[in-house]
Amino acid sequence: MIQPLEQPHGNGQRPSTNGLLDHLSASTVKLYLTCPLKFWFKKVLCLPEPSSPSLHLGKAVHAALQCFHRARWRGEAHDWPTVQQAFTDAFDDPTEATVYPNVDTRQANRDKGMKLVEAYLDSAHGKMTELPLGVEVLLEEDLPVLPSPVLGYIDLVRPGNVPVDYKTCASTPDVALEAFQHEVQLTLYQLLIESATNEAVSGRELVFLVKTKTPKVIVHRLPAATEREKQRVLDIALAAMDGIYHERFHPQPGMHCAWCSFRGECAKWTGGER
Ligand code: SF4
Repeated sequence: MIQPLEQPHGNGQRPSTNGLLDHLSASTVKLYLTCPLKFWFKKVLCLPEPSSPSLHLGKAVHAALQCFHRARWRGEAHDWPTVQQAFTDAFDDPTEATVYPNVDTRQANRDKGMKLVEAYLDSAHGKMTELPLGVEVLLEEDLPVLPSPVLGYIDLVRPGNVPVDYKTCASTPDVALEAFQHEVQLTLYQLLIESATNEAVSGRELVFLVKTKTPKVIVHRLPAATEREKQRVLDIALAAMDGIYHERFHPQPGMHCAWCSFRGECAKWTGGER
């Protein structure tokens, strides 16, 4: 069996992958298939990974949008001061450990996030009059083929059972490429909704919040996945589960190494005890 690295715990025991397959999520599948060794570092060894300013901003924007739509759904106040406060509370969360070079950089990131939320509320998507069917919906369902239940947190579910996922990004995205890259996530959400409601899903939606000088909101609506596309995603998920179950944790170098925090650890990987 491949041994990724010397054990960090000094007890001669390989860390257990037990429990990792109790549930499956789109992020698990994506992480494993992007790089099995990075999956090992993050999910098995649980090595800490520094939070980036971009992730910090993304989480706070996400919290603000969640507050906005949840309040609309409940018929509560969802004006700018309410949403602004939700953003501030998330950005200033005392457990948040993002390191900034100085206070000015932190403030600039905060201002950028606030402008992004404001742009969203001013956009057609933010001004939708329909009420969502659900906000930050947690679903857990047994799906065909997969031996473990699938778990998903869906940002928003619109009428027609349309799952919506928000993405913050630095520049205007190639939406077709993004849709391809997020195929597993969107299709698993569709499968979860169909399984939970026994109803059809009429589409899938990505909403990009672009951090350009003048922030942009780009909505990309996709049709519902066909039966063939659903089967493809189930097969992709099954391939990831098979790799995790059989503990295939090898490096998979590529462009994604540019933003991997584990390059130092990765460089020590030899493929086994020599
Ligand atoms: S540096 Fe690249 S190959 Fe190595 S663990 Fe990170 S993503 Fe994987």
